[in-house]
Order: sequence, then structure tokens, then C-alpha cells
Amino acid sequence: MKEYIEKVYKKDKEEFYKEVEQKLLNEEKTFIITANPEILTVGDKDKEFDKILLDQITTIIPDGIGVVKGAKMFGIDLPGRITGVELSMELIKLCNKHKKSMYLFGATKEVMNKMKILIEQKYSGINLVGSQNGYVEDKQAVMEDIKMKNPDVVLVALGVPRQEKLIYDNLQGFDKGIFVGVGGSFDVISGSKKRAPKIFIKLNLEWLYRIAFSPSRWKRFYEGNIKYIFKLKREVKRANRKERK
Ligand code: UDP
Repeated sequence: MKEYIEKVYKKDKEEFYKEVEQKLLNEEKTFIITANPEILTVGDKDKEFDKILLDQITTIIPDGIGVVKGAKMFGIDLPGRITGVELSMELIKLCNKHKKSMYLFGATKEVMNKMKILIEQKYSGINLVGSQNGYVEDKQAVMEDIKMKNPDVVLVALGVPRQEKLIYDNLQGFDKGIFVGVGGSFDVISGSKKRAPKIFIKLNLEWLYRIAFSPSRWKRFYEGNIKYIFKLKREVKRANRKERK
């Protein structure tokens, strides 16, 4: 866990967005992972995902408050969250501003239709070279289509860790592109699913709002968060012990 946390991007989101804009303009291939405690816990158990998190091609940003708090336990002060939803919006705006091309993959057909309409109506500077909902059987075929279209930005919303694995396994086939696994971001951006009320976001309790209303997430919450905290505490203790020796 410590290795992941040490790798997390340490500057604030304004700085991060500036760097992303530069990468977009320079056509620098980039893979961004929006991390919450659940994702880091997956890395701890799943070798393939562990490799993705630690590979130098990936940038890990602190999507969840648990990552910001976890970093603090290791003496790392992060300025705050950089969420997947906000990053997706920022990339849409940047593509619009610089007239760049984009491919959207994931979420339901209805949500994807709303995303297309939103882009046509409000961000018409974007060259949307392709869009595909996330419930097609052959996801690799979609990746092949993306390779052919060679877009500047690729957002994949299939849920963790599938979206990250799919991107990672195909990354070699691209020579440019900003790739992000954006989870439920299309649901939120298209207005199909509401983000938590502002007060929850402000108090850093967005996670509480999200799990409270979906019992199916309760187990995931336990696995990804309660266990995460205990694991971090153990690792901090171990690190302190080593230092004292
Ligand atoms: N999703 C998809 N195909 C699937 C399963 C999920 O496109 O086979 C989409 C789902 O519609 C949602 C997104 O993946 O838009 C992320 O889902 P969720 O919020 O559960 O993911 P998380 O970010 O919490 O892992």
C-alpha cells in the first residue's frame, strides 16, 4: 500500500490540469488512474493490477478522501482530492478548447446517448471520433476500433479494475492519447446519476452518501475501506519500527 501512496500525484488539481493540457498539446501518451481506497486494495490482492499501479506510465491521482488521509498517515501532505468526474469534465473542456479528438467507451446505451448529445450541443469543438456503450460483448474489438481512430483522449467507463486492465493491455498499440478509467463519471456528467449533495462533498463525506444508498456497495466498502485503514496502520507501524532500528 505504501508504494502506491508514495506514487500518488502530490500537487494540487490546478497544477495537474495544466500538466494534462500540456500533455494533450504535446501528444504525450498518458494513463491516469483515479484512486480511492478500494482501488488500492485491489492492487494489494491482484498482481496484474499491482503492476499497473506501479508502472511508470501511470499517474495515480487521489480521487477518494481515503487516499488523502492515507497519505497523511505516511507523512505525505496532499493538497486535496482530484476526482475522476472533475477530470473527465476538464478533459472534455480541454478537448473542446483545443479542437482535439475524443473516444468515449462505457456506461449504458442511454447514458452514452446523453453524452453524445451533450458534446454535440455544448462542446462542439470536440471531434468525437467514436463512442460505444460498455455492455457490448467484445470489449477488445472496441479497443481495436479506438486504435484505428487514434484519438487524443480516451475515456473508459467500465468500472474498476476492468477499465484499467483493458487500457493497460492495449497501451502499447497507441503512440499518443490521454487514457483514463473514469468509473461512473458518464452517469454523473450526463445527469443520469446525481453526485452527492454539495454539503456531503464539502465535508468529504461523498463516499458515505454513495454507499448509504446502495446496499450492494456495503461489502465493497468493508473490503476496500475498513480493511484499508487497518492495513495502513499496520504498514505505518512497520515503517516506524524500521526507522527506529
Ligand atoms: N459498466 C459498463 N459495463 C459493464 C459494467 C459497468 O459499462 O459491464 C459501467 C456502468 O454503467 C457505470 C460504470 O461502468 O457507468 C462504472 O460503474 P460503477 O459506478 O459501479 O464503477 P466504480 O467506478 O464504482 O468502480
